[in-house]
Amino acid sequence: MEFTFSMPVKVYFGKGCIDKNSSVIAAAGKKALIVTGKSSADKNGSLKQVTGALTKENISYERFNRVEANPSVETVREAAQMARDVKADFIIGIGGGSPLDAAKAIAILAANDLDDDGLFSGVYKNRPLPLIAVPTTAGTGSEVTPYSILTFRKISNKKSIASPEIFPAAAFLDAAFTETLPIETTINTAVDALSHTVEGYLSARATEVIAPIVIESMRLLGISLKKLSDKTAPSFSERENLLYASMLAGMVIAHTGTTAVHAMGYPLTYHRDIDHGRANGLLMYGYLRFLEPSSQKVENVISAMGLKDVEEFGKLIETLLGKREEVTDEEIELFTDTAMTSKNIANTLPAPDRDEVRKIFQLSFGR
Ligand code: NAP
Ligand code: FE
Repeated sequence: MEFTFSMPVKVYFGKGCIDKNSSVIAAAGKKALIVTGKSSADKNGSLKQVTGALTKENISYERFNRVEANPSVETVREAAQMARDVKADFIIGIGGGSPLDAAKAIAILAANDLDDDGLFSGVYKNRPLPLIAVPTTAGTGSEVTPYSILTFRKISNKKSIASPEIFPAAAFLDAAFTETLPIETTINTAVDALSHTVEGYLSARATEVIAPIVIESMRLLGISLKKLSDKTAPSFSERENLLYASMLAGMVIAHTGTTAVHAMGYPLTYHRDIDHGRANGLLMYGYLRFLEPSSQKVENVISAMGLKDVEEFGKLIETLLGKREEVTDEEIELFTDTAMTSKNIANTLPAPDRDEVRKIFQLSFGR
């Protein structure tokens, strides 16, 4: 047996965890830049809790609220300039994966003058500003990962920054903030969490130590996704389970990275504006069918989720996602070419070649 394991993020989980632990935020600095999306943080209670804690701790703050879904390099550069202008000494990201990922890149760029290659290099002369993460979707698990995924127009795709220096210092997980999520986003983000734990488990970098985390997150997500298939809003305790499971799934990919599903999902989001979690969900059945003949572990995924076989998995996903987008053969070629340029393809065990990636796309879209 051989593995390394590290989880440097201090996680505070539970209703009211920000208010109860405001001194943790005080330790991060004296001036915060709060990074959010357009409006959800104003409506779900998270911004109010954070600003309340900052006021209590005598910390001043400014806010950048222009992070779009799948944040772009341009947006994080604009926000980093603001962080410098207001002399922020730490960053608080509040929101779904988009504001959390943006906050990580802003923390890097506020402390370093970098061109795009430098930004994506993962190695920085100056330490990125300290970062606090408050997820409001369940989710990406970004609060416990060393990744920031940005829309990078120069390559017409999404691209990841991976660096241990962008692990948040602390993360506050309060499921109350997820209660305002529409059912569709609840489903898409839960499917993203599922893809993290499944891909992590099936990746070339999977180790023994992540197996218990994988099995528990798959069990919880199996229960939640079955419940979500009737499209009714989850109860508070179900929301807590989802937030907990998505955090566990984040811990998995923090160690293993993602694989072909994410590599193939990015062009679907870039070119067709399909939500990240949905994009992954559309591909997962085809991916499991591809791996099934050569990987014993696919069976473990199915049984951990409380399912019978890959077919039943496919049906569950079908019910959750509804009617699939129509794509053309030309688009499949473009998606295939783009996916093949992602490093995550090689992290799949076994790694699919170009023909196999195309076949997974074809199966996923009935072509
Ligand atoms: P998102 O793009 O952050 O947010 C999607 C939408 O949900 C936005 O319109 C947002 O509104 C809204 N929203 C967020 N929280 C809400 C709430 N509590 N109630 C109501 N609406 C809410 O979605 P996401 O799926 O969480 O994040 C996707 C991004 O994360 C992608 O860019 C993906 O690549 C990335 N990701 C990162 C990692 C990682 O390890 N770093 C892993 C997986 C995925 P506002 O704009 O108004 O806030
Ligand atoms: Fe993801």
